[in-house]
Amino acid sequence: MLTQQRTNRIYANRYDTIVIGMGAMGSATAYHLAKRGKRVLGLERFDVPHDMGSSHGYTRIIRLAYYEHPSYVMLLKRAYELWRDIEQRANEKLLYITGSIDAGPADSWVFKGALQSAMEHDLAHEVFTGLELTKRFPGYQLPQEIMALYQPEGGFLVPERCIVAHVFEAMKQGAEIHGREGVIGWEPIQGGEGVRVHTERATYEADNLVIKPDRA
Ligand SMILES: Cc1cc2nc3c(=O)[nH]c(=O)nc-3n(C[C@H](O)[C@H](O)[C@H](O)COP(=O)(O)OP(=O)(O)OC[C@H]3O[C@@H](n4cnc5c(N)ncnc54)[C@H](O)[C@@H]3O)c2cc1C
Repeated sequence: MLTQQRTNRIYANRYDTIVIGMGAMGSATAYHLAKRGKRVLGLERFDVPHDMGSSHGYTRIIRLAYYEHPSYVMLLKRAYELWRDIEQRANEKLLYITGSIDAGPADSWVFKGALQSAMEHDLAHEVFTGLELTKRFPGYQLPQEIMALYQPEGGFLVPERCIVAHVFEAMKQGAEIHGREGVIGWEPIQGGEGVRVHTERATYEADNLVIKPDRA
């Protein structure tokens, strides 16, 4: 329901949260907020999905033991649960378990970090030299001095279908998702009343705004 109209700009109802960008992050955010009963507006400047952002293409690797830090593992365990949940709701396979490999010189961050994550969290894994890896997985021809951590629970997601699944499920929970509607600006509403978001087509208000700044 429209509440106000000024010149050619339409002031729509307020939302609990506006999410800018329906890529992998924004679509999941919109879905999870809507599922919690929040009134959500998702704004995407291109189509949903599209090939102009970070989330396009066929696959994105996922695994439990990340080399960056063992603290990621708990997040990843939860992420696996949530991927299974959205798969069920969307009735579509999004997460393929294939096993995954993190490889590098023995003292590299990639190999050592992944091994540390696997060991600290007691995750299933195997360690191979480059030669052993080639014997087990002939597609890999790595130098002998390279060490590889194999984790059977690694796999990949199909990112564009993940976006579609999250957006459809968000809409089923009552979220409004607008494609081809770029955000051109936003500002806090005076008095701490939330935010006002301006797009190419309209102006919206919300208590909260989810926005991911571009890397400079
Ligand atoms: C080639 C490549 C390979 C990768 N491989 C992996 C991998 O194997 N595993 C892994 O975990 N990660 C991987 N990543 C990282 C992962 O893909 C990204 O972290 C993730 O896709 C980021 O999602 P996002 O929603 O933040 O960004 P995006 O998908 O770019 O979404 C941002 C959205 O915001 C929209 N937007 C921006 N400005 C506005 C505006 N003003 N108004 C409205 N909408 C706007 C954009 O159009 C876009 O749709 C890879 C990334 C790349 C590029």
